[in-house]
Amino acid sequence: MLISPLDGKILHLKELGMIEQILFEEVISPEDFYKELTSFLKKNYDLDSRAMFTTQELEQVDSFIKNYFTTKINEAKVWLLRAYVMGRYLAHTDLTGNIFRLGNLSSLPKYVTDAAKQYGLSIEEAMALQQAVEESAVLMTNTTQSTIQTVREALVENVKTRGDGKKLIGKLRELCKDDVGEINRNWKRTAITEANYIFNNGFISMQEEGAYVVGLSMPDACGFCAAEINGQVFKVRKDIPPDYTTMKGAEYEKWAKVWETEIWVGKNNYGRSTSNRKRIDKHRGNKEDNLREKEHHEHSMPVCPAHPECHCRWVGIKPEFMWIDEHGQMRARVEDEDKWQEWYENTITN
Ligand SMILES: [Zn+2]
Repeated sequence: MLISPLDGKILHLKELGMIEQILFEEVISPEDFYKELTSFLKKNYDLDSRAMFTTQELEQVDSFIKNYFTTKINEAKVWLLRAYVMGRYLAHTDLTGNIFRLGNLSSLPKYVTDAAKQYGLSIEEAMALQQAVEESAVLMTNTTQSTIQTVREALVENVKTRGDGKKLIGKLRELCKDDVGEINRNWKRTAITEANYIFNNGFISMQEEGAYVVGLSMPDACGFCAAEINGQVFKVRKDIPPDYTTMKGAEYEKWAKVWETEIWVGKNNYGRSTSNRKRIDKHRGNKEDNLREKEHHEHSMPVCPAHPECHCRWVGIKPEFMWIDEHGQMRARVEDEDKWQEWYENTITN
């Protein structure tokens, strides 16, 4: 009886889940933000006696939020780095076949220089890691702007409706509340997406040119991921493909095919979507005469994460010894030589 090649990997998917959780609940916790923001407001403004906030006061609140995030994003970088390191660890397990135990997550390196020393990274690898961490951290700062906007709207609304301090605090509470609040949902989406993105980049960075990976989706994956990622095999490339959006004919087709079948560090769906058609005028709704067919470079492609909050990830596969059955399960070639042959011819040599 064969041990499923996924056994050891499931353990590490749990650890990635823990990093997501730490990022979201401890580092950029909406609960803590609510507490600190409300105590800032209470301390600096006598909420009950006020009918309005001046522009200067609104700007002070903006600055408070900005500073709050600057500190938090620096803490978040530590965990983004750890997600990347875990991606590399898992790739190493794949390549060597050794199952390892990560142990205590907080014993993982904190800074890029530590990671470089600990894992003997080359200068190029250390620079790629630094870049990956910065890139994810920058994307996390998008939440700063949207949070400033959301809080500002709450303050202005309170003034307009002649609300009191109690009503304002209640509104902020609502915005930060589990799953339903706008701030909560926005932060959670960002934390999960960025942790997964950097984890998968760490994983892909360890693969050799021409290696193969297979997508693994969770049971609750969306239709796109279930069809386009789960159980699908992709070839790893080291060179990043050029921007093909303005190319024509055969050149365009060539890169379109690469996007469909290959994977590389930094591949993402920025500017692409899963919808079938695109609005001609952004501001007019989905009216029939305002929709056009999308071009290839506007369609979502297989990449992990494929969309915000996507939980899919890559697993290494050696197509000479393994194959994927019709249920998306990884099987050993020796289990069914004929089926392996058929799969290999359709998937790998194509
Ligand atoms: Zn997915």
